[in-house]
Amino acid sequence: MISSTDTAIIGAGPYGLSISAYLSAAGVPHQVLGEPMFAWRNVMPPGMLMRSEAFASDLYAPHAGYRLEDYCRQNRLPYAPIGMRLPLETFVDYGLWFQSQLVSHVRTVEVTELRRQDGCFRLTLSDGSTLLARRAVVALGLKGFEYTPSALQGLPKPYVLHSGEIGNLMWARSKRVVIVGGGQSALGLAALFNELGAHVRVLVRGDSITWNKDPEVGRSLVSRMLSPEGGLAQGWYPYVLSEFPYLFRAVGQRLRKRIAETSFGPSGAWWLRDRVAGRIELSMNTAVGHVALRGSEVVLEVTGENGPATVTGDHVVVATGFKVDMAKHGFLSPEIVGALALVGGWSDLSRNFESSVPGLYITGPAAALSFGPVLRFVYGAKYAAPCIARHIGLRHAAEGGGRAFESLAAPQALAEGSAGAAPHAPAAFRGAESTAE
Ligand SMILES: Cc1cc2nc3c(=O)[nH]c(=O)nc-3n(C[C@H](O)[C@H](O)[C@H](O)COP(=O)(O)OP(=O)(O)OC[C@H]3O[C@@H](n4cnc5c(N)ncnc54)[C@H](O)[C@@H]3O)c2cc1C
Repeated sequence: MISSTDTAIIGAGPYGLSISAYLSAAGVPHQVLGEPMFAWRNVMPPGMLMRSEAFASDLYAPHAGYRLEDYCRQNRLPYAPIGMRLPLETFVDYGLWFQSQLVSHVRTVEVTELRRQDGCFRLTLSDGSTLLARRAVVALGLKGFEYTPSALQGLPKPYVLHSGEIGNLMWARSKRVVIVGGGQSALGLAALFNELGAHVRVLVRGDSITWNKDPEVGRSLVSRMLSPEGGLAQGWYPYVLSEFPYLFRAVGQRLRKRIAETSFGPSGAWWLRDRVAGRIELSMNTAVGHVALRGSEVVLEVTGENGPATVTGDHVVVATGFKVDMAKHGFLSPEIVGALALVGGWSDLSRNFESSVPGLYITGPAAALSFGPVLRFVYGAKYAAPCIARHIGLRHAAEGGGRAFESLAAPQALAEGSAGAAPHAPAAFRGAESTAE
């Protein structure tokens, strides 16, 4: 079956859902493809606490009433903008509630191929159908960008796992788990594994752990002016990066790349310190040189403060972060990857998040080269969602509200084009959705 729509949003996480809410309000027909909040439900470990403050953990809509605070109030859940330990499960439930209220037209399919065809995009979907779209938005989060140092590559799962593919942790109960890394993922997993009864050892490259400061609740006006609260952290530098992501493009590309890749680097959330320090074996100044399987255990050759040593475990968890590389999205056609003109894996974007492929927008962590480190976090959607929707809305209107697109679609697509609309759009938006195909 072939259908058509104006805009295909690939990904149904906080970014994809927020963009959909804005596009609906702008009257732009679109489809959202992906499983709502998939990464948060399946990849992140149950029991995890959100690293971002509650006020920086919203999904965004052009109408009041859909913030995390609104959800918590309606469900009589505790809420504090700063200093709250927000459970992953609450964030997931909130995201699914947001979706049910504003984006009920999600199609839970994967895009298996995206290519250009006759001035539009042709998407092949995992249910065997095809979608033609004038525009496409890639909002896939960190998927496919897991970074494993070469010394740790080559061993099969579940002996060596990346922190970005862990999900449920129950398998680790009473197992020996070696974690490589010294940031939030490494420390957060170390605490959860330890509390489950695993024997945990963390190998840290640096000579100390950076712990984030305890949040300061109820600060005076002067204190807030001297060091404002930004979505990324407290202070003027994080504030500017959090609140004015569009300024980032004015910086030279090399510096932007360095800031996007390294700033707000490895550190542990304030609420983790008591669960880690003094409870878990942390080995500082370590470098893993080699890793191998001996029977059913993993053997790591490690250089540490006291020279070379051998560390063994049942499993190794690589918590060494993520590296954006758009070429790793296997569903992008070679022609699209070639036209993206990548800079070390990044696509440099226009001020409207449009890539060098006209009509192809990229957002979320993959947009951090152009809009700064806030795009690595949910908070970046506060700027990205309205910005992308405004640009698409203007283009859609300039093109005659979709009528011109119909002439591009193949006859078969035209016949079935109405399947591309959002049949289950919430009442508030139904008028807008039905302007479409
Ligand atoms: C362990 C961990 C903890 C984190 N904690 C925080 C935190 O506390 N606060 C914070 O702000 N950020 C946090 N982050 C970062 C955060 O995950 C990302 O910034 C955020 O997920 C980006 O949201 P997104 O909408 O871009 O993508 P995601 O939420 O990752 O959603 C991706 C979507 O893409 C869909 N998808 C994937 N492949 C396809 C395909 N081929 N076709 C169609 N759809 C597809 C999925 O189904 C899913 O719907 C954390 C990251 C990790 C790894």
